[in-house]
Amino acid sequence: MPEGDSVYRAAARLHDTLAGQVLTSADLRVPAHATAALAGRRVLEVAPRGKHLLTRLEGGLTLHTHLRMDGRWEVYRPGERWGGGPAWQIRAVLGTDRGTAVGYRLPVVELLRTADEQRAVGHLGPDLLGPDWDPVEAVRRLRAHPGRPVAEALLDQRNLAGIGNVYAAELCYLAGVTPWTEVGQLPFPDRLVELARELLDANRLRPGHITTGDTRRGHQHWVYGRAGRPCPRCGTLVRTARQGTPPQDRVAYWCPYCQRGPAPAGSAGSPFRSARPGPGGAGRPPVR
Ligand SMILES: [Zn+2]
Repeated sequence: MPEGDSVYRAAARLHDTLAGQVLTSADLRVPAHATAALAGRRVLEVAPRGKHLLTRLEGGLTLHTHLRMDGRWEVYRPGERWGGGPAWQIRAVLGTDRGTAVGYRLPVVELLRTADEQRAVGHLGPDLLGPDWDPVEAVRRLRAHPGRPVAEALLDQRNLAGIGNVYAAELCYLAGVTPWTEVGQLPFPDRLVELARELLDANRLRPGHITTGDTRRGHQHWVYGRAGRPCPRCGTLVRTARQGTPPQDRVAYWCPYCQRGPAPAGSAGSPFRSARPGPGGAGRPPVR
């Protein structure tokens, strides 16, 4: 699952190549739009919205795509060899004199009227990297379901748009709560939302989803992807478990010492297995 900062960068790359250019070729390899004739239209802009990409075309049309698990857009200069995967994985090709954008393994390729974009992205909560970012509204949406586990609530794009599994894990760590902690038990939800914005913003122009401030490989995250390795802060081994209901389940990572709150049975040894954070986070700095 891509994080919002990856989608932001993909949109910027596409925008640099396509915006202002006339499509010399356009090929949408999905049954619904296989015959769409887009060549000759000018690309107005490519805009990210949460994890969605909106390629707006002259004539009031928008190409809506989503990367989901392993989709990606590649950009090639004229004459450059395409290397993003086998040809049968290509879902969209947008060619211009400046370069060609090729969409591989895109699970969502949808052509709609620009006026109808809300149908595709209207369900999204405030966009962490959007010009209309609204932290108060994001907190309001999170708080509307106080019994939800915080990691699941952060991943729900209807609450706030842009968080994937990396940031969900890292934000819980930085908040000092386990991923299963209920939203209503969060000591400072507004500070958590603010931190989410800071992290995505800091990473919007670089790869790696770095949350520690340390860009070295193996040092970029506190707990994400570090199962069985020592927590960088306290040395306790980082734990991992499935969270959520299939097929929406994901791998959760947490440090049983630095993060308080419930954790699943079977993660025995956590001193805080069934503990709930007390008022004000029980004296532990809640969000760093
Ligand atoms: Zn720790």
